[in-house]
Amino acid sequence: MTTTLALANQKGGVAKTTSVASIGAALAQAGQRVLLVDLDPQGSLTFSLGIDPEELEVTVAEVLLGKAVVRDALVTSEEGLDLLPANVALAEAEENLISRTGREQRLRVALAKIADEYDWIVLDCPPALGVLTVGALSAADEVLIPLQAETLSHRGVGQLLDTIHDVRRFTNPDLVIRGVLATMYDGRTAHARNVLAAISETYDLEVIDPPIPKTIRFAEAPAIGRTILSTARSHKGAEAYRDVARVLMAGR
Ligand code: ADP
Ligand code: MG
Repeated sequence: MTTTLALANQKGGVAKTTSVASIGAALAQAGQRVLLVDLDPQGSLTFSLGIDPEELEVTVAEVLLGKAVVRDALVTSEEGLDLLPANVALAEAEENLISRTGREQRLRVALAKIADEYDWIVLDCPPALGVLTVGALSAADEVLIPLQAETLSHRGVGQLLDTIHDVRRFTNPDLVIRGVLATMYDGRTAHARNVLAAISETYDLEVIDPPIPKTIRFAEAPAIGRTILSTARSHKGAEAYRDVARVLMAGR
């Protein structure tokens, strides 16, 4: 059985990409077969796994446009993670998709061809609620919402939940909201703890335990092209993502 998990939040800088790479690496270290999918034209996930986005000729963009089959676009990172990569071609593809039939189903259809080979497919959404994010939510079994545990940073959550409800109504009735993942968490402050409690009360969403601690290590990892799960195996940030991966596996 394959679980497709989307990490979505239209706000940038909430650690979607960091969490996709880290959860993916943690699941792989736990023996799971994992595919990561970059759906951001910035190609940050692709870059952070040590692959130069601009060198790629076949990416998720060509797959969504029907110009390539998904298998031809797959790459493997140095760390051994399978990736369906993205680069700037995805920006043009997104515009093109707006007038194409089945635009919201194209990712789901493409992933169905290779899903058998993976236990987990983890989708990194761009910072917008456009066709790429809706396509990801339409392909997903579960959605996890990374939120920076600071004041007001959860302002856009209502809008994201509206989009999720629309997706459930029109394209993917079985989509489950797995919960909120608090990122860049500074547990020393009562303030951060209060924000978490407020989020869980306001939106009636599960807040995954543990939160991900704020640490400089995450900023350093992409430049090396490896996740902190492999460069700093026993780091508290790596441990937190390992615990989150355990929670996700237990919920299957
Ligand atoms: P998004 O994909 O939501 O835009 P990123 O994963 O790119 O967010 O993260 C935004 C920035 O925050 C990056 O510079 C990243 O290195 C940094 N970051 C992510 N998680 C943490 C963390 N737990 N502690 C400190 N910095 C973090
Ligand atoms: Mg990102």
